[in-house]
Amino acid sequence: TIILGIESSCDDTSAAVLKNTAILSNIIAGQKIHEEYGGVVPELASRAHQQNIIPVVESAIKKAGIRKEDIDAIAFTKGPGLLGSLVVGTSFSKAFSLAMNIPMMDVNHMHGHVLAHFIDDGDKNKPSFPFLCLTVSGGHTQIVLVKDYLGMQVIGSTIDDAAGEAFDKSAKLLGFPYPGGPLIDRHARNGNPKRFEFSKPQIKEYDYSFSGLKTSILYFLQKQEKENPDFIRENLDDLCASIQHTIIEILLKKLKKAAKELNIKEIAIAGGVSANSGLRKAIEATANELKWNTYIPKFEYCTDNAAMIAITGKYMYEKGLFADQSIAAKARVEM
Ligand code: ATP
Ligand code: FE
Repeated sequence: TIILGIESSCDDTSAAVLKNTAILSNIIAGQKIHEEYGGVVPELASRAHQQNIIPVVESAIKKAGIRKEDIDAIAFTKGPGLLGSLVVGTSFSKAFSLAMNIPMMDVNHMHGHVLAHFIDDGDKNKPSFPFLCLTVSGGHTQIVLVKDYLGMQVIGSTIDDAAGEAFDKSAKLLGFPYPGGPLIDRHARNGNPKRFEFSKPQIKEYDYSFSGLKTSILYFLQKQEKENPDFIRENLDDLCASIQHTIIEILLKKLKKAAKELNIKEIAIAGGVSANSGLRKAIEATANELKWNTYIPKFEYCTDNAAMIAITGKYMYEKGLFADQSIAAKARVEM
């Protein structure tokens, strides 16, 4: 089976061609335009998707070395995400399905982040069911109990900011451009993670909260800068390392609790923040300590990409879970 995947939920336009579980191509066009605004501007994102979608699909088909007539089905992100962005991928996919007379599958973006683990990349073994997936992205922080490819239950999530937002908002306070998560990661490598302490939330069950951390960092920086205007510049690496360490500790505490209480040792991470080198190391250290089998996606499948949408579409295709032409993009979608 050959499946074309389409992803346009936020600010990356992506198309991928999947043959069974192997990725033949995975093209991602990012959008530089948002950098100068310090965040994604929905109107601009939607417009850029419209400009990018056809060239991105064409290059994915070309790179895969197939003809568009070879495609058996098309999978696209229905939501969650920015409505104006989702509409572009959804409309394209509906038209493509109609024109090529092939079925289409409407994919939940968050399923995609989890199922990115099942993309065939030759070298690594796959999680076995049931497993827990800590999905940490720009808009979500979830502990997902994955019972089957399409049987997922969110057992914990953030009550305010997502982990990616915590990275990006902290980065903004330090003067980094958007998205600052990867920059914190880079500076943290040379810093002391124990140098500064920031407050950690007390939240029930497996839920998360990150808005307090941002406030705690803000007040701390304001106080320090009163005494030394160059405080941030002089302590940048230690600040980054300490902030990153705090976010990782918050993430791991609830993940460990869930793993213990549900007695599951198959543990995966997914989403953009799973690209963070500190989190990847911490997960592996915890795995050693608690005898977990951990699964960490390849970098290119952590942040938004159409390969993860195509693989999710493949499992829907096998079950005959097709959408019809009345399907519409949705900003909010439940698991
Ligand atoms: P969602 O999937 O919830 O709709 P999204 O698709 O926008 O959100 P992703 O593309 O999965 O989110 O992830 C983007 C986030 O990942 C950003 O907040 C970015 O800062 C963060 N991120 C990416 N790389 C790193 C890194 N190395 N360290 C920390 N954060 C990172
Ligand atoms: Fe995402």
